[in-house]
Amino acid sequence: MISQEQIQTLEGQQTPFYFYDLTLLDGTLEALNAALKTHPDFRVHYAMKANVNRPILERIHQAGLGADCVSGGEIARALESGFTPAEVVFAGVGKSDAEITFGLEKGIFCFNVESVQELSVIADLAASHNKTATIALRLNPNLDAGTHHYISTGKVENKFGIPVADLDAALETIKASPSLHLAGLHTHIGSQITDLGVFERLCQKYNGIVSWFEDQGVRLEHLNVGGGLGIDYRDPDSHAICDFQTYFDLFGRYLGRREGQLLHFELGRAIVGQCGNLITQVLYTKHGEQKSFAIVDAGMTELIRPALYQAYHHIENLSATEGLRKYDVVGPVCESSDFFGKDVPLPETNRGDLIAVRSAGAYGEVMTSHYNLRQIRPAMYWDGSGIVEE
Ligand SMILES: *Cc1c(COP(=O)(O)O)cnc(C)c1O
Repeated sequence: MISQEQIQTLEGQQTPFYFYDLTLLDGTLEALNAALKTHPDFRVHYAMKANVNRPILERIHQAGLGADCVSGGEIARALESGFTPAEVVFAGVGKSDAEITFGLEKGIFCFNVESVQELSVIADLAASHNKTATIALRLNPNLDAGTHHYISTGKVENKFGIPVADLDAALETIKASPSLHLAGLHTHIGSQITDLGVFERLCQKYNGIVSWFEDQGVRLEHLNVGGGLGIDYRDPDSHAICDFQTYFDLFGRYLGRREGQLLHFELGRAIVGQCGNLITQVLYTKHGEQKSFAIVDAGMTELIRPALYQAYHHIENLSATEGLRKYDVVGPVCESSDFFGKDVPLPETNRGDLIAVRSAGAYGEVMTSHYNLRQIRPAMYWDGSGIVEE
């Protein structure tokens, strides 16, 4: 919830900007750690691509999480933010030679490898640098995550992971490469998964694949089930913090593990999604024959999720309470997909009103662009007593 106290400090600030409630982030991390306490062999790496702002990364690091990176830039940012190389995993379907070398030189914990060809490239680069690369194989389990097709990653038609049919070839390459150490398996089947049954099916697939590896004489030190736990975009105030306990318990129950085998998670959205809001101001209102528009000073350049994934965000008018009308809340960018919501019920809205686009902490600010040569203002952070700039 954006409190009256917070609204007062937001008024008069130049818009648009992201506003992060660090007290909610802290509460989320506390809940996560409380749930982890009941599963001592579970580890969480924060999926950095969801949000890379330093105050957020620092808090996540202080809470004891590792970092899941998908680029050399993210590895560098993780190390700058206090994560040690041993806490960093590196995934991604298109790691460049330079990025792999950077990871090897820094001595990161694990490369999550996405193809047989990539295995050979990492093996060669590691050998030429006299290093051993610790790797996990990212499997494509051919499983429907039941989420928007742009954020599904675990079906055979997706570019991600090694298809089960290639596992023989992968294992042969690993056995022939002394510079590779196979430590684990990895999957990540998609994002914003709200049907927990999907994770149960993932466990079943996983169990079969782990048995296959054991039959080949491979002992796996860790299993990594990725991230994807969804958040409540419709009702962020009732469900500000995810039910991590139920989520972890499900894996504890359905995923078969051997003595000493660690279970890794890579959560992004579930950690940072609800603590961020895009704050924007109404520039104009327009009442057409069929529709009313609230034209705001933020657009798809600040938050692209509605345009990219047809994503829903809860929208609030922080300045008005009287009346009720439906508005299309649209941005200033010259694209028809540049809107935050259609037929959004809002109080009677006027020029100058502050609007909050909620649940924007994940995959929001990281995707801002300069299209139309637009420029976003620095983020603001609520630390419990007042507002701080980065
Ligand atoms: C994006 C991503 C995640 C995090 O996904 P969330 O839905 O934000 O939890 C985890 N692992 C990998 C490999 C990813 O690409």
